Amino acid sequence: MPDLIDLRSDTVTRPTDAMRAAMVAAEVGDDVYGEDPTVRALEERVAGLFGHEAALFTPTGSLANVLAVGLLVAPGQEVLCESAAHIARAELGAHGAVSGVTMRTWTDPRGQVDLAAIEAMFAPDMGPFFVPTATVSVENTHNFAGGAVLPYADLVALRSWADSKPVRIHLDGARLWNAHVATGVPLADYGAVADVLAVCLSKGLGAPVGSLVVGPADLMAQARVRRKRLGGGMRQAGILAAAGLHALDHHLDRLADDHAHARLLAEACGVDPATVDTNIVVIPHDDAPRFVAAARDEGVLVSAVGPRTVRLVTHLDVPRAAAERAAKVLAALR
Ligand SMILES: *Cc1c(COP(=O)(O)O)cnc(C)c1O
Repeated sequence: MPDLIDLRSDTVTRPTDAMRAAMVAAEVGDDVYGEDPTVRALEERVAGLFGHEAALFTPTGSLANVLAVGLLVAPGQEVLCESAAHIARAELGAHGAVSGVTMRTWTDPRGQVDLAAIEAMFAPDMGPFFVPTATVSVENTHNFAGGAVLPYADLVALRSWADSKPVRIHLDGARLWNAHVATGVPLADYGAVADVLAVCLSKGLGAPVGSLVVGPADLMAQARVRRKRLGGGMRQAGILAAAGLHALDHHLDRLADDHAHARLLAEACGVDPATVDTNIVVIPHDDAPRFVAAARDEGVLVSAVGPRTVRLVTHLDVPRAAAERAAKVLAALR
């Protein structure tokens, strides 16, 4: 049987030989002492890309989000987000369990910003009556909405609404790189609409480990303390940061290939191309687990994210030829 083609997630990539070489060559020091030059270089570079003062390297995107939301929302306050947001569904309740934050949600099948719903939900601090709204969190691209892009104009409108209220904005940008490549909106423009962002290096960019929180220097100093408290202080982490720097140099522009491969797979599977903004394809199917098993028998790994929903994710380790072969296999199973 030929090699498996793994379309379950863009987290399954393995570091390339060139990335491994960059990791081997990294200059390192103890980052808890602030002495790892490679981590510092990565933090400065990513902060600069988004036009913010500072950034903080974290082992995971979930920790980046916990730190980010925790900076903006005090215990007993709330964050508003879309009901399928990663922070609401896939972080195992960390924002409540660890940070004492509550959530209320609006629902949009494409994960979009619903400013009318947000305005209607917003609760000012009125003393001992209602949970005050501190932050609105948005996710771009939206994972469970199939990699959907949030139109930049909607983010700008949300920003100007938040500026009229005591409300701040968290952007879960685990796949913001994909949104940037798909739309051409500069990273700094995305940075400008958020008070604090979280971005991942271990999704489409193909690094083995790592995310960053990005924002004002005073908040990042607080996040540094909180990261250590939660067990996320790392020592010679420059080995990992080097992978991130390499990914930014070599793997950002090529996300366009992943997007093209996703469109190719969508077409083969009869999926409406209007639902494929980036590198994720959602296929409705009567029996998703059976489809997944049949695809596996043909050497293609995909996920059932619901009883009637199959998900494919394209990435660095799925070159054109593999995407074409997978498209043939999946088309025959439809
Ligand atoms: C993957 C992901 C994260 C972070 O996940 P980790 O597995 O903790 O790195 C955060 N937000 C979104 C939207 C994601 O897809």
